[in-house]
Amino acid sequence: MLPPSQAESLILKLVRPLNPQQDGQEVGLHEALGRILACSAASSLDFPHWDNSAMDGYAVRYQDVQSCPVTLDIGETIPAGNPPQQTLRPGQCARIFTGAMLPPGADTIVIQENTHREGDRVRILAVPQGGDYVRRRGSFYQRGNPLLAAGIRLQAPDLAVLAAAQCHQLTVYRRPRVAIFSTGDELVPPEQPLQPGQIVDSNQYALAAFVAERGAMPLKLGIVPDRPEALKSTISEAIQSADLVLSTGGVSVGDYDYVESVLSELGGQIHLSSVAIRPGKPLSVATFGNGCLYFGIPGNPVSALVSCWRFVAPALAKLSGLAGNWSPKFAIAKTNDLLRGSGDREVYLWGQLQLVAGNYEFNLAPGSHSSGNMVNLAQTTGLAVVPAGQGPIPAGSPVQVMVIAA
Ligand code: AMP
Ligand code: MG
Repeated sequence: MLPPSQAESLILKLVRPLNPQQDGQEVGLHEALGRILACSAASSLDFPHWDNSAMDGYAVRYQDVQSCPVTLDIGETIPAGNPPQQTLRPGQCARIFTGAMLPPGADTIVIQENTHREGDRVRILAVPQGGDYVRRRGSFYQRGNPLLAAGIRLQAPDLAVLAAAQCHQLTVYRRPRVAIFSTGDELVPPEQPLQPGQIVDSNQYALAAFVAERGAMPLKLGIVPDRPEALKSTISEAIQSADLVLSTGGVSVGDYDYVESVLSELGGQIHLSSVAIRPGKPLSVATFGNGCLYFGIPGNPVSALVSCWRFVAPALAKLSGLAGNWSPKFAIAKTNDLLRGSGDREVYLWGQLQLVAGNYEFNLAPGSHSSGNMVNLAQTTGLAVVPAGQGPIPAGSPVQVMVIAA
């Protein structure tokens, strides 16, 4: 039984990320939101593209405005989008607007608040600093340099940058394929009336949503009965068609728990069978020769999601091509409730992590924290962690809370 942090490290070592060459996909900007950039993006444009004015005012030669007030002739007017036509002569300025190109000869902008217009002349009232309000070509970015790094998930500001850089076709990673199925003779789909003893297969929905939220493609393979032959055929289908497989149920030590033996029979190498965590102790992790990574997750709906948040999320992040730190994020929060641990396992208690006047607070979900109770799991935004061997954490104390976010 490995501690959770060691289990996570072991799992991350097993993950082979998508490859930019084999797994890259061309998409247009409108299809790119939420996708992960597979190749760094560069632009053939400098930013700014040319020297331009940061304000409405007058483009001047700095040497002409060293002692003020001084009156200059106004040559041309340069609105944004119109290239200047004239070079400034000594004693001349140009009327200019924000974003417009600087005319040749000009090196400084005098904002219009510091001027007084007199027909086709303008009085400059205060001496500016040389270079005031000029945005120099290439001062933000020089063409050809990396603009956005590979491995980022594209969000609104990134798309703005790419659009401005005229990178309208991008190479992103394909979405990882994640096969999902539920095992258990007792399971039925939500639309089927329950017979006594039956249970609705909620995991299929939870896991498909968990995977889709992270930009991967769920392949839903349905419900598989607790029979080794049936399991064998679904597991082999799953490992042939997916990068990652998530099955729930059948990984404990009960009489009907066949997943691990079937994984071995199919040539899977089992790296992990249980983790010192509550909920979510049984967790089978196996790899196959074709690179497929298999997670046999416990059937309890709460355990299943906690296992996904704690262990599958980092693996999926690395697999997807995301750069950086794949580990879950933990905040330090003040708990508003007493939190109880459980002997030799790290305990994850679900609830709400909230920012209250700038500080994190944790509210335990009301009701039972048995892994059999899933009703109070709704709207979970944090899992408070009680370390193994630690006594109760009183209300008002600081606690580590794992942030639940897609
Ligand atoms: P297992 O891990 O197969 O021993 O299942 C543990 C518990 O979780 C049992 O009470 C199952 O009925 C329940 N369970 C298993 N699979 C699912 C599922 N797909 N959806 C909801 N509950 C499940
Ligand atoms: Mg079962």
